[in-house]
Amino acid sequence: TAPSPYVGRFAPSPSGPLHFGSLVAAAGSYLEARHRGGRWLLRIEDVDTPRTVVGAAGGIIATLARFGFEWDGEIVWQSRRRDAYQAALDRLKTAGHAFPCACTRREMADSALARDGSRRYPGTCRDGLPPGRRARAWRVRAEGTVGFEDAIQGWQQEDLALDAGDYVVLRADGLFAYQLAVVVDDAEAGVTHVVRGADLLDSTARQIHLQGLLGMPQPAYAHLPVATNAAGEKLSKQTRADAIDAYPPAAALCAALRFLGQAPPAGLDQAPLAEVWRWAFQHWQLGTVPRRRHSPTTPIDPPR
Ligand code: GLU
Repeated sequence: TAPSPYVGRFAPSPSGPLHFGSLVAAAGSYLEARHRGGRWLLRIEDVDTPRTVVGAAGGIIATLARFGFEWDGEIVWQSRRRDAYQAALDRLKTAGHAFPCACTRREMADSALARDGSRRYPGTCRDGLPPGRRARAWRVRAEGTVGFEDAIQGWQQEDLALDAGDYVVLRADGLFAYQLAVVVDDAEAGVTHVVRGADLLDSTARQIHLQGLLGMPQPAYAHLPVATNAAGEKLSKQTRADAIDAYPPAAALCAALRFLGQAPPAGLDQAPLAEVWRWAFQHWQLGTVPRRRHSPTTPIDPPR
């Protein structure tokens, strides 16, 4: 039989250690890929170098290995892929989809649009740089409506100009924007299915827009609920999410499964890790993942 065309991936940003929220995204994308007989790739999203914490990527990779994740092929590092992002930007420029922008943060905050409470780009440089001004960033013209069916969250639709506005692909600090990097990387790796946290649901329309402009295939999307702390904030380094390494892997993995609407039997928390994976491979169902953007974190059972 022909090999399955499913290609999934996990793409952590190395801004801190793997926490419960990132374990949920890793487990959800991994189990769906394995369930579909697909490949599962690992990409370190260190394109945003100022946010990259030294040693965090190595820590994340070691934690994933200790938790029993097995990725296919070589790990991709965004920090080594500037040439690919530059080539994509050049294509956007040549086709007239991208324009240089001289606006500072202050100027945009002062614009009339911003005073209406909008964070959208006011369009100042859209039809050419104002006289005497120099390009700081490059933006893509946001036009049209993007709709897509999310396998968990259902139908999503965004008016790009209204909701996102002309968005940055090359930042004023010279770094490529996440939106461009993720689209170029997923296309090059042949990713067919993106399973990730619902905090990225609002980025998806821009990514689909870029795929269209660059003539790249559009993957299918499934956005998992995001784990929050008791205060309802997304778990992150800023909210002091615990490193998942502090917990026994089997118990933490069972908690992630329960968070994702799966029903591992009581007692599996204390079983060997391989047994948890065996159960998960047999019972995983994307259809029971709650259709929610956020959920409070599931408590991790302490080991016996
Ligand atoms: N690097 C992003 C994050 O850690 C995930 C990007 C993606 O899955 O598309 O939130």
